Amino acid sequence: MQLKTHEEVRVMRRAGLVVAQALAAVKDAAVPGTSTADLDAVAADVISAAGASPSFLGYHGFPGVICASVNEEVVHGIPGPRVLRPGDVVSVDCGAIVDGWHGDAAFTTVLGPREGEAAPDAGDAHLVETTEAALWDGVATLWTGRRLGDVGAAVQDRAEGRPGPGGEPLEVVEGYTGHGIGRQMHQEPEVLNHRTRSPGVRLRAGMCLAVEPMVVRGDAATVELDDGWTVVTRSGARAAHSEHTVAVLGDGLWVLTAPDGGALELGARGVPVMSLD
Ligand code: MG
Ligand code: MG
Repeated sequence: MQLKTHEEVRVMRRAGLVVAQALAAVKDAAVPGTSTADLDAVAADVISAAGASPSFLGYHGFPGVICASVNEEVVHGIPGPRVLRPGDVVSVDCGAIVDGWHGDAAFTTVLGPREGEAAPDAGDAHLVETTEAALWDGVATLWTGRRLGDVGAAVQDRAEGRPGPGGEPLEVVEGYTGHGIGRQMHQEPEVLNHRTRSPGVRLRAGMCLAVEPMVVRGDAATVELDDGWTVVTRSGARAAHSEHTVAVLGDGLWVLTAPDGGALELGARGVPVMSLD
């Protein structure tokens, strides 16, 4: 496991802000009638205008700048001609490299209401809110916890602790994890999104981790499509994915892919934010 110096974390912050900017632009562009290839081009433009490089493009042959995963797609969806429709649950994951250092983040959003309906599906809205809350609870635990396993427990407790409308259960996906991040997008250690018997490594200053829960409306069993990338739920249930890259520093956390460094969400959880900006 690679511990980062403040100088290195500052460079990762620059990569993190490029990712934040790319995802904000993609979120604005994600409206019904847009294709996922259009969203990919938006992210590519922002990353290139910032003088950065995409982390995903060419990674083990991945053909996109973003992963775009719609509805029952959980993660690793390939951007393409698919046109987004009202009511779609759209997850976008993006990474960027600045001076050799990576940032990695993802969000999920529900597109405007389906035709003839006044509001987005309440279960989809609950899914997206809960996944985001589980992400922030997991991130906060990087400070309030003692060992990495505490993060997965916090994520799972939040994700599965509050059923959706009508008592519908949510489940975290267990086959895919967060990760250490630095000069490579994926480094040790894995950051699980669920409880295990293993307490995991001790949390300490200098760790940089991507926390990224994936949550499903119902059974979280997944299968990979024949394209070799796209992960979908076996049942066809809808899924959400949220991610941030976070540095553990001596006096607090710094969420490198959040423009405010995590101040709002971590402040609400009593966790100090240490900015090196
Ligand atoms: Mg990611
Ligand atoms: Mg990641």
